[in-house]
Amino acid sequence: MTTTHKLISLKELHTFRLPYRAHAVVELTSADDLAQLKDDYYVLGEGSNTIFTEDFACRILRVAISGYECSETEASYELRIGAGENWHKLVLKTLKDGMPGLENLALIPGSVGAAPVQNIGAYGVEAAQFISSVEAWDRKKKEFVSFAKNECGFAYRDSLFKQNAGRYVITYVNFSLPKNWQPNLSYGALAGLPNDASATEVMDTVITIRNSKLPNPAVLPNAGSFFKNPVISVQHFATLVARFPDLPKYTVDDNHVKVAAGWLIDRLGLKGTTCGGVAVHDKQALVLVNKGGASGTDLLKLAKLIKDKVYEEFAIELEIEVRLLDKKGLMSA
Ligand SMILES: Cc1cc2nc3c(=O)[nH]c(=O)nc-3n(C[C@H](O)[C@H](O)[C@H](O)COP(=O)(O)OP(=O)(O)OC[C@H]3O[C@@H](n4cnc5c(N)ncnc54)[C@H](O)[C@@H]3O)c2cc1C
Repeated sequence: MTTTHKLISLKELHTFRLPYRAHAVVELTSADDLAQLKDDYYVLGEGSNTIFTEDFACRILRVAISGYECSETEASYELRIGAGENWHKLVLKTLKDGMPGLENLALIPGSVGAAPVQNIGAYGVEAAQFISSVEAWDRKKKEFVSFAKNECGFAYRDSLFKQNAGRYVITYVNFSLPKNWQPNLSYGALAGLPNDASATEVMDTVITIRNSKLPNPAVLPNAGSFFKNPVISVQHFATLVARFPDLPKYTVDDNHVKVAAGWLIDRLGLKGTTCGGVAVHDKQALVLVNKGGASGTDLLKLAKLIKDKVYEEFAIELEIEVRLLDKKGLMSA
């Protein structure tokens, strides 16, 4: 465990790269250290879903636990992965080692430990489909705990860990990758692939599409989708589609549909809108970018403007997907 005690720039610790600082950053490389750690920290992975909107007064615990253990049963490959491993590297390694399953989730930035927190998902697949259990340190009970998949409260971009923000430090994530693998081509953009496409072909296609659609945070700082795709009632959708016949929808259940937040923002002509150094990306309306010299105030102003305009036009309350932090910690959405 390494603790750095001078004022630390947070620019390199989150992908939106606002120029704020923190007083201490603790690098956690072993789960065993958690029991001795003074309990006043904010847990951070690779900062790709987190934005510091001002200087941060609390300590940061950067989870950097490594580990890649693999075993197999007749039906599946069983993996135990350290929370500090990089997600995309895990996808690459499993495919290289002949264990398909995670290919649709290629190139999602961030750590393995953060994957269960918001149940990362893309191209018709969610991490929860392959997670068998999650190991964590419970800060309230001060003990190590393990949650079976059905105890994790997984839902769309949600979980028990997100609902109880700050309570658990995830140390290891266990995955079960079935051997009777079939490609998942359910998502429209993958429908052009042949039914017998290999996992590598699926992954390469996902990577190509993602690279063409999403700004690379290393080039143009951003935190991915800024808002969640809202779920609305079918009645609400019926009133909207009468006014906007091309409004796309994804069925959730008999009573609810999901609509694309990016489509709503785009429809309002907000692509390219700027507030100080923050802008709505000009190709992908769901992503806000730091064009340089941005501040937390710019970001909050632009987010409010978008939320207000979407509400006025569509009567939909957009929910922020990214974790916003002020000096004391997590801000309420
Ligand atoms: C360009 C871009 C594209 C993206 N595309 C997608 C996408 O397609 N699908 C998707 O779902 N997401 C996407 N994201 C969001 C992001 O990649 C995920 O949310 C990712 O899981 C964040 O990982 P992280 O390690 O950077 O988490 P951080 O930003 O460091 O943390 C996120 C949250 O998880 C908590 N956390 C982190 N590590 C732990 C831990 N070990 N224990 C307990 N809590 C922890 C933090 O406290 C925080 O609340 C994208 C982001 C970017 C920048």
